[in-house]
Amino acid sequence: MQPSWSVLNKADPHAVARTINTAGNYRFWRAIQPTPEQLDTIDWTTLLAGLTRSTGILPGNLTTNLDALTTLDRLPRLRALVEETWVLDMFYLSVIDRAATRAPVRLQDDPYFWEILDEALVERLATPRRAHQLLLKPDRIRQVVATTITTLQEADDHPAWPPVPEPDPPPEPEEDSEGDAGEGDSEGNQGNNNDDDGDDGNNGDGEDTAARPQPCLDPVELMRSLPPLGDTPAPGVWIDTEDNGTTRFELSVDQATGTLIRDAVWQVAKAAGVSQARAMVMLLLGQATTSVTTHLYTAKDITGAPVFHPLAGVLTEQAAQRLLAISTKTTDMDAAATAHTDSYTPTEAIRAYLVGRDWTCRWPGCGKPALGGDNDHRINHHEGGPTTPANMVMLCRHHHNRKTDVQAHYLLDPVTGDVFWLFADGTWAVDHAQGPLAPAEKRWVQTYAQRRQRRAERAAARAAAQEFETYQEGAPARAEAHARLEETINRDEADHGPDRAPPEDPPPQ
Ligand SMILES: [Zn+2]
Repeated sequence: MQPSWSVLNKADPHAVARTINTAGNYRFWRAIQPTPEQLDTIDWTTLLAGLTRSTGILPGNLTTNLDALTTLDRLPRLRALVEETWVLDMFYLSVIDRAATRAPVRLQDDPYFWEILDEALVERLATPRRAHQLLLKPDRIRQVVATTITTLQEADDHPAWPPVPEPDPPPEPEEDSEGDAGEGDSEGNQGNNNDDDGDDGNNGDGEDTAARPQPCLDPVELMRSLPPLGDTPAPGVWIDTEDNGTTRFELSVDQATGTLIRDAVWQVAKAAGVSQARAMVMLLLGQATTSVTTHLYTAKDITGAPVFHPLAGVLTEQAAQRLLAISTKTTDMDAAATAHTDSYTPTEAIRAYLVGRDWTCRWPGCGKPALGGDNDHRINHHEGGPTTPANMVMLCRHHHNRKTDVQAHYLLDPVTGDVFWLFADGTWAVDHAQGPLAPAEKRWVQTYAQRRQRRAERAAARAAAQEFETYQEGAPARAEAHARLEETINRDEADHGPDRAPPEDPPPQ
């Protein structure tokens, strides 16, 4: 059976209906997409008003979907894939758009960023590995984008502002406009969302309607023309008394600190069985204490491999270094992959491996972080199922109960971590493990290393070009000096005759 996404299964009438709908919907949005001429001559608000009049769709929703198409136009390979297979619908395209607009402006202006992002998304979406494979969850797509942003940012190694001007015609033929100012990890790089309600990213809230290029009266243009922040913003806290009798707190800290706080809140919430908001209150008011445990995942054999956190996703290099520096314990995940214990409760290492392999609840479509989930024995422990990763997956509490109620069965491929779900109606689907420890993800980690290498090589080539240009800039001065030297020699010869070589012997007779 050919590898394929379950949403493209031609034998499944629901999937076929979805494909028809996706294609039709996409064509609708293309049909109402303003032309470049319209964008040049009509202001955005007027355009939207006209579209709302014709379609009845509210401006926020219009902007969300049109922005998604604008972003797709910057990703030509993904666009071709979408238009050929209809694997992604408009909702998924808007997820990509929003995640991409979180990139610093400097990256968004860099064709290399779009090229790499295009490659990363197509690599993920063009190659299902199993028949009936479940489509990547929106959170996973977000993370692909966020990880691309983080790794490209880090590869720049935060050079100083102002940027070095580009050499006039750079000798490398490819696109390129990077090598400019760095900024810290001020952007929220995580696609991961661990709010209490566990899912987000629904269509149509028009939250960032101003985050895209717009034809006129666009304050974003002004913001874009300003130099980027030189460094990570200082920590800040904002406290507002709201009209509805509540007080709103907003805290901004560096990513390493934020990750520790996140883990502390998460752990207190889980231990006390309360919401994260309640857990944070308990911590602040001293009604709860916790010693924070933070798990970090990184490849031990690849220099510069990204460091993953189960809630934050891939960390910025500074955050990773800070957190690794205070880490007290290293666990070998290769050993944990095959470890087993006689007890029902897995060892800490086995559980850490399961989280690193599964990353989220493995129920089809569930995106709850695995970190807070239950360890499910595929074959029950009391029926002889061993406590070892080959017999266990992470499920959130809700789906753990459903599985225990025998509403669905699964099989686990112990080599790949793929889970085959078998439903009561005889249909099945494959959920593939998406954590950094999943075998399929290891290649991905390697790709980052190579990408960073490529990026470094390009930077070196650019530096060489710069040096050459500087050398060339000195050419007129050198030519003048040379001319002066020659003039001096000629004058000397005229005054004293050529006295530098001995007179030649007369030629033999
Ligand atoms: Zn779940």
